[in-house]
Formats: sequence, C-alpha cells, structure tokens
Amino acid sequence: MALRSRLDQARARSKGGLVSTLGSVEVMQPTYPAEAESYRAKLSDFLDGNLPADWKGIGALPEDERSAFQSEWRKTLRANSLLAPNWPAEYGGGGLTHVEQVILNEEFAKRGVPTSGANDGFSIGMVGNTILHWGTDEQKAHYIPRILDGDDIWCQGYSEPDAGSDLANLGCKAELDGDEWIINGQKIWTSQGHTANMIFVLARTDVDQPKHKGISFLLVEMDQPGVDCRPITNMVRHDHFNEVFFSDARCPKDNVLGGLNNGWAVGNTLLGFERGVGATTTSLGYRAELNQFIDMARDKGKTDDAEVRQQIAQFHTNVEIMRYRGMQALTRYLNGQTPGPEASIGKLFWSKHHHAITEAAMNLLGPDGMVGFGTETRGGLGAPAIGTENTPGNWIASFMIARPGTVYAGSSEVQKNIVGERVLGLPKEPRADTGSWKESQAAYK
Ligand SMILES: Cc1cc2nc3c(=O)[nH]c(=O)nc-3n(C[C@H](O)[C@H](O)[C@H](O)COP(=O)(O)OP(=O)(O)OC[C@H]3O[C@@H](n4cnc5c(N)ncnc54)[C@H](O)[C@@H]3O)c2cc1C
Repeated sequence: MALRSRLDQARARSKGGLVSTLGSVEVMQPTYPAEAESYRAKLSDFLDGNLPADWKGIGALPEDERSAFQSEWRKTLRANSLLAPNWPAEYGGGGLTHVEQVILNEEFAKRGVPTSGANDGFSIGMVGNTILHWGTDEQKAHYIPRILDGDDIWCQGYSEPDAGSDLANLGCKAELDGDEWIINGQKIWTSQGHTANMIFVLARTDVDQPKHKGISFLLVEMDQPGVDCRPITNMVRHDHFNEVFFSDARCPKDNVLGGLNNGWAVGNTLLGFERGVGATTTSLGYRAELNQFIDMARDKGKTDDAEVRQQIAQFHTNVEIMRYRGMQALTRYLNGQTPGPEASIGKLFWSKHHHAITEAAMNLLGPDGMVGFGTETRGGLGAPAIGTENTPGNWIASFMIARPGTVYAGSSEVQKNIVGERVLGLPKEPRADTGSWKESQAAYK
C-alpha cells in the first residue's frame, strides 16, 4: 500500500489527531486522553515557572555550571514530588499514573531538562526500583528515603576484568564472618563510582554452586578502609568510570537483597530497568542531533552532495524507526507489560545509528575533525543533551562517546544473541557451565 494512502487511512482513523508534519514530511503521532493533555499543560506551567527565562536545554550550560544546576534542579523536583515519579507516594515518590510518567518524560526531554540528579540512573532507576521489587520492609524503610534525600548515592558493581558479557563468571567473593560479609575482589568500569557513597555488588557467596547460582546481591558502603575506588579517564578526558578494589571490605549480614545466592535473579531484575529506560524519548535526542548534522551540511555547502543526501535520508529513517519503536514500547508500558527481550532491538539500533551519524559528521568536518577539544562542552553518554552547541569539538566528542554505546548495557553481539534466542526463537548458544564455579575456574587455568 502506498505511504500516502496509509497516511490518509491513519488520518481518518485519528480524526486528524494522529498525523502531523515534520518539515515537509507527514508523520504519525500518538494521541493521549484529554486528562493526559491537561497534565501536560500543568507540567508545562511548572517548567515555565521554575526554569531560567533564557533556558535552551542543559546542553547549553558550560560543564562547570551543569552539575550545579542539576543538583539544584533535583531539589526542586523533590520538593514538587516529581523525583522518582513512578514510585508510590507512600515511599515519597510521585505516585503518577503510567500515562503521566510518559508525559513527564516527553515534556522534560523536549526542553532538555533532566528528570533526576547525576547518579539517579543508578540510585533511583536501578537499585531503588530493585529494592522496591525485592527488598524487605526494613530495607525499603531504610534505603528508599535515603535515596530520595540524596543521602545515599549509588553506583553499579557488576563487571570485572574476567566477567563482562559473561557476567555469571564473576569472582569477587563474599564470606560470612559472624554478622558481616567480608568482601574481596575487583570490579571495573564502575560509572560514577567516584561520586558515590554506596555500591551494589554482585558477589560470589557459594563457590560450589554452578556459576549462575552461587551469587548474592550485596549493598555495600564505599566510605570504608577496604574499598579503594580509582578513576579511569575516558577518551574524552572525563573521569567517567573507575576500578573498585575490595580488600576485606565489610557489610552487615542483612545487606543481601532478594535472598542468599539469589543474586542472578535480582541482578537481572535490575538489568531490565537499565535496558528499558528511555525507550519513548530516545528518538528526541537523536532527532536534535540529526538537525545539527543537516545544519552543518548546509553550512559546508554539501546538501547537493549525493552521498551526504543518502546519509541524511538514512539517518532520518533511523530516527523515525526509533520513534515508532518508542511508541511500541509505550503501548507495552501502558498495558502494564515490561520491556522484554525486544528492548535489545532498540539498544542495537540506536547504538549503531550513533556510530554511523558521528562517523559521517567526522567526514563532513574534514580537517576540522582533527582540531582539539577547545569547544567541547558536551558530557554524558548517548545523544548530546538538548542545547549542546553545533561545534566541531562537540562532534569530535560525540564521535568518541558513540564508540562505547555498542559495549555498555550489553554489547551488540550479546544483544544479537538475545534477539536470536529469545525474540526469534533460534537454537541457543552452547553453554558449558554445568559444574560448580570452582571447577570451571580450575579447568580454565
Ligand atoms: C561507558 C561504559 C560504562 C560502563 N559502566 C559500568 C558500570 O557502571 N558498572 C558495571 O558493572 N559495568 C559497567 N560497564 C561494563 C560493561 O557492562 C561491559 O563492558 C560489557 O558488559 C562488556 O563486557 P567486557 O567489556 O568485559 O567485554 P567482553 O565481554 O570481554 O567482550 C569482548 C568482545 O567479545 C564479544 N562477546 C562476548 N561474549 C560473546 C558471545 N557470547 N557471543 C558473541 N560475542 C561475544 C563482545 O561483544 C565484545 O565484542 C561499562 C562499560 C562502558 C563501556
């Protein structure tokens, strides 16, 4: 069926509300119930009343002002019950409905406003949600208010030098000594570890079990003599991640989340939160980045170049696919379903797109792409924050920041395995991990 007639049908179905224009191209838009639109108007008033008058998006702030803005903004969100909007009000969250959360994400993303503080992806998005799912009443009562008040700032202690994609191979050990766990081993690539005072650690608590089974999820304080956190400087010269060494570090016996030797299940609940985040707003950042790419092509007089035109068409198609996938994810979410293994398709797609558009940008820049970092102001992973200046320095930084996109939160090859096995139902990869973890280590050596 021709695109035109599909659009006509969609327009007829939506009584005019589903189709809008993007430049000269007509595109489908989701429609929301009237009460959702009145919440959107309320949020818009909140943003107008609380953001600076000349607000262009957090990307427009110089790096040294950005983190100060974000921590003040976090306090504003907390004071207005907009921090952790999905958490029940009884735990201090926003208690918003699913639709309201989606509207909040959309409105904040459009204006380039953070929905939380710097480490909250770990504190609220990952461990907070996981504590609400698996925690005892005592754990919830202790940790949830501390997370919201910013008393506990978390980081993620999963990966090790010999355990990344094969996370179940992890060797960081915890042994019980009276009422405490004694922890020894090493974690690596611990993002924001240097700004955290708490770390959630996947540790081996039973070496005689098969490797997926003898693991526990521990809640550990960073500020103690047995924890040594050493920053690693990344390609864009930011101290983004760290190595964390545990030498007889301690945590109370009761700081196991979700039960002894049940860490694999708990850890996977958390990864579901990590991989599902942002599905509905991912395309907005990539659309803004593509607009900057088109502006740069115009500035360089390259919009008649056949190769550049092909690239722009492909990138536009990619961003639209991301937007449609976002709508699919939204539908699942509004129906109360979790992201599921299909989330891997989105992760594969945006990370590959980001490689391609930043490579094309480096080609467009030509010799400017070799100039240093003088004008580089962007930070963070993924698409640049809204408001980020369209400069060679920022494109160079984006090019480098795009590289690890195909590695963190599960590498592309691992995502393809998930899609193959769990979405397409292909035969499973052979796995040789039937004996105990201890035996597998002996065989390996
Ligand atoms: C920017 C960034 C931030 C990160 N932050 C954190 C953090 O906060 N906390 C944390 O715990 N970890 C973090 N990580 C680590 C991340 O989770 C791991 O890098 C990732 O899981 C891959 O593991 P690895 O680096 O050990 O690579 P490996 O697992 O050694 O993979 C090496 C290569 O082999 C391929 N491969 C591996 N297994 C298979 C397979 N079965 N089939 C096909 N190919 C395969 C991989 O795709 C890859 O190309 C971060 C990583 C990055 C890049």
